[in-house]
Amino acid sequence: MKKKKEKKHKKKIIFLDRDNTLNYDPGYLGNPEKVRILPGVKESLLLLYRMGYEFIVLSNQSGITRGYMTEEDVDKVNQRISRELAPVEILRYYICPHRDEDHCPCRKPAAGLLEKALEDYRISIPECFMAGDRFRDLTPGEKFGIPGVLIKREEATDEDAGLQPPGNLVFSASSFEEAARYILEDKFEQNFKKKIFSGVNDIAFKNRLARYKLSGKKIVFTNGVFDILHTGHIQYLYHAASLGKKLIIGLNADSTVKKLKGKDRPVNSFFDRAIHLAALDFVDAVFSFSEDTPVESIKVIQPDIHVKGGDYKKEDLPEYQTVKSYGGEIEILPFRNGYSTTSIIRKIRNNK
Ligand SMILES: [Zn+2]
Repeated sequence: MKKKKEKKHKKKIIFLDRDNTLNYDPGYLGNPEKVRILPGVKESLLLLYRMGYEFIVLSNQSGITRGYMTEEDVDKVNQRISRELAPVEILRYYICPHRDEDHCPCRKPAAGLLEKALEDYRISIPECFMAGDRFRDLTPGEKFGIPGVLIKREEATDEDAGLQPPGNLVFSASSFEEAARYILEDKFEQNFKKKIFSGVNDIAFKNRLARYKLSGKKIVFTNGVFDILHTGHIQYLYHAASLGKKLIIGLNADSTVKKLKGKDRPVNSFFDRAIHLAALDFVDAVFSFSEDTPVESIKVIQPDIHVKGGDYKKEDLPEYQTVKSYGGEIEILPFRNGYSTTSIIRKIRNNK
């Protein structure tokens, strides 16, 4: 028997620069009395903290080697910062005391401090971010694929001018709040994008499908536009899902919606429609669908049950023979009365 995998929770860390990211930078900050947290930092950290993020500070403090301050001074400053930020906890401060000319492996943009932190904690790298006011604060994350958010305050001097931005730079914010908003938005999107695929032949989709097949769980498939999600759609999908264990939706690509419904449609883009569907617990996978009929998709998926809405006769559907050929079933579900995207749009137009 294989030993049970340790299921300890891995930390989602935001690796933060310190001076001019968390606090005002008076230059070689060695006096805790001079600690001033920048506006918006505390509130933003608290929000991220409540959403499950934890924080580690990686900071260059060459003032130690230069003799302007001691390691103890820096320690006291860090403690003061932590006190100011409470109840948010900074897990740890990793400090490089060296100067550029010392060529140590820990001074940012080198990755030494980050590597140490990754060694010391169990960290879920795909969920981490780097944040700081300079390129060199983000660069350590480059080789680990940790995305970097630059927080470039307007009043700050541009020390990165003329430098090549690091490859992991994903967003430039002008305040800490804006950086936090980006991180939370990204987390939201990533969470639902796990269910969204570019097409029925997307490798990731095929892997997912193979897993479903292996598990022997009954697969239900349907396709449609789902432009402005309404109760009728939700009821339809809820019932479709309850016919099996895994619900897969072929969601019409924007170009095909135009063709089917007119040039003003879709109201919501594919991305938005896919997010709406992926956010439903009973939806397992959504892929971009651009065929005129679901025949090709059904050939790939071979769902146990193919679901269609409305008052069709099974035998009249172009996919009828395909579904029959591998022993699948077709289920026609009635629409809920009084709901359609078209009627919602009409209602909005008449109420203006
Ligand atoms: Zn160093």
